[in-house]
Amino acid sequence: MLKELIIGTIEEVVASADTETEYRKPLVGFANANDEEFESLKEIVAPEYKFPTDILANAKSVVAFFIPFAKEVVELNQQQQDCAPEWAIAYHETNVLISQICDSLKNEMDKIGVKVGWESPTYNFDKERLLSFWSHRSAAKICGLGDFGLNQMLISKQGSAGRYGSIVIDRQVIPSQKINKSLCLYYRNGSCGVCVDSCPTGALTKEGLNKDLCYKMCLENDQVFKEKFDRFNDIFDVCGKCQTGPCAYGIPDCTKE
Ligand code: SF4
Ligand code: SF4
Repeated sequence: MLKELIIGTIEEVVASADTETEYRKPLVGFANANDEEFESLKEIVAPEYKFPTDILANAKSVVAFFIPFAKEVVELNQQQQDCAPEWAIAYHETNVLISQICDSLKNEMDKIGVKVGWESPTYNFDKERLLSFWSHRSAAKICGLGDFGLNQMLISKQGSAGRYGSIVIDRQVIPSQKINKSLCLYYRNGSCGVCVDSCPTGALTKEGLNKDLCYKMCLENDQVFKEKFDRFNDIFDVCGKCQTGPCAYGIPDCTKE
């Protein structure tokens, strides 16, 4: 009942979104707030990394969701040499949409006495160390929505082109099954690498991501789009070229396995 209410609310907000960007069907997953993977993130990322209980006292479950961009948005970013304006708009609009989803979930949960907490969809990171102390993507992995690919994005059933959000609630729900196999072609059989080839700066290699180079590219794009889209009064530190490969829309087909 609670799960259905949460899933229905997210689907409803996305279906009625007043955005230029179009979306595919969202995905929703659930995890125990005391899942040991949340603890290990503190060790892997930084001591400041948050537990669900840092977001909501008495946290019992985490809910993560993925809002996948329409295929057309991905294709435009794939085809153009620079980051496509449609991708930048999708980034901005989806961050707003995720905040709307969180507000709607809070309204619905208030009606049945469930408490809700969340971190903002973006700009919740340390700009010096380029670290986020609550990663919606990592929360989504723990909630069974996908697995990380070579592009450092979470590949889900609906691919990696889109944005993730998450909330914490003070009610226990049955956790979703986790994905325990790699969904990235490179990790599965050493093929693909399209994300690395698509990276305009060389920030992404098969050895990992140079966050400084990547962020520099994103800030350059911000300068371009901030002027172009001053009506939105937002930051457009985006690129997303590495999200337009064969894992953009779904789990890529592994024919060489
Ligand atoms: S583009 Fe290919 S190598 Fe890169 S993350 Fe996707 S499947 Fe993996
Ligand atoms: S966002 Fe752009 S610059 Fe950063 S790794 Fe992906 S393709 Fe490279």
